[in-house]
Amino acid sequence: MRGYKRTGGKLLLAMGAVLLLTGCEGRVEQYGSVDTAMGTVVSQTLYVRGDREEAETETAAVMELLTRLEEQELSWRIEGSEVARINALSEEVAGERRTRGRESAAEDSMAVSVSSTMQQILQQIWQVSSDSGGALDVTLGRLSRLWNLDAVAMGTAEISVPTQEQIQAALEDTGYERVRISQGTLGLPPGMQLDLGAVGKGVACDRVGAYLRSRPQIAGAVVAVGGSVITYGQKPDGSPWKVAITHPRKEGSYLGILSLTGEHYVSTSGDYERYVMVDGVRYHHILDPATGVPARSGLCSVTVVCDSGLLADALSTACFVLGPEQGLALAERYGAQALLVEEDGTAHMTDGMEEMYTAAE
Ligand code: AMP
Ligand code: MG
Repeated sequence: MRGYKRTGGKLLLAMGAVLLLTGCEGRVEQYGSVDTAMGTVVSQTLYVRGDREEAETETAAVMELLTRLEEQELSWRIEGSEVARINALSEEVAGERRTRGRESAAEDSMAVSVSSTMQQILQQIWQVSSDSGGALDVTLGRLSRLWNLDAVAMGTAEISVPTQEQIQAALEDTGYERVRISQGTLGLPPGMQLDLGAVGKGVACDRVGAYLRSRPQIAGAVVAVGGSVITYGQKPDGSPWKVAITHPRKEGSYLGILSLTGEHYVSTSGDYERYVMVDGVRYHHILDPATGVPARSGLCSVTVVCDSGLLADALSTACFVLGPEQGLALAERYGAQALLVEEDGTAHMTDGMEEMYTAAE
């Protein structure tokens, strides 16, 4: 755990902690950094065969690819990203149809071109949406903006609990099953808004993985993008990677530790991440598309480990909405390992998770 400090329940690296290690492969530089990207904290520990300058260059390259991913592809907030472009076109067509006096703006579907990369991302998401009976639904952009819980939790907006009518109206523009994905085209009802927040950090870890694999001088790494983590390669001493799981109710503590060897993707979804308490009610950022309100499945934290960042992230959100039994079954169906924690602390886990997880005392 050398070089780490705990901040806000997350494992963070002490800024700029540097350690020189020697092994049979020659000099390996351990370099740690903490920065922000994609609206969250990014902590990196890289083991680089080379000197400190090379390690710094690799760290900066990882940050750059995350920023590019957010700005060019995934962010609905940043004008010019692919998701923002899809949402803007959808809004524009809905507006035109309303002006022309069509009864329902969403009457006919509209077509938007998408890159092959975005198409692949969406196809994987749609598979999880379908397998989870819609517990994961990235077409709920209108609903997530209505609640605005990200901004509320950050203190940049006041909570205003939407009325049932407002929730119903937002849900009318939601529904993954109303979308067609085909060769380079997305067919969607005008007015629908995408929010890839449930998978973005997992996709980011996939991109980091691809980058690390392309750099032979990187021997090992742990990179955390908010609640999504990639472990890669190995440490010079061969010991396993340790990934701490935040305690959902005790700030600054952790629930347990995962011991992982080699390349894995870990995602945690929790009701403690972005939330606000009003009159004893916890309004958190994981919404149940069936009801339009923050999910009440009895769970407060779900961690998924598998060999894809996108899937780990998509499944952690979907399992959270589904609850302990159905959530566990969904993870098993994907061959993923999962830890699902109920509000009273009861933990459910897959067999493989039992082998990698050690609960904190
Ligand atoms: P995560 O922290 O990965 O579980 O993702 C939560 C984020 O995904 C929220 O901040 C919303 O932007 C979005 N979101 C919330 N509920 C859902 C859902 N049921 N399906 C898809 N996206 C969701
Ligand atoms: Mg997720």
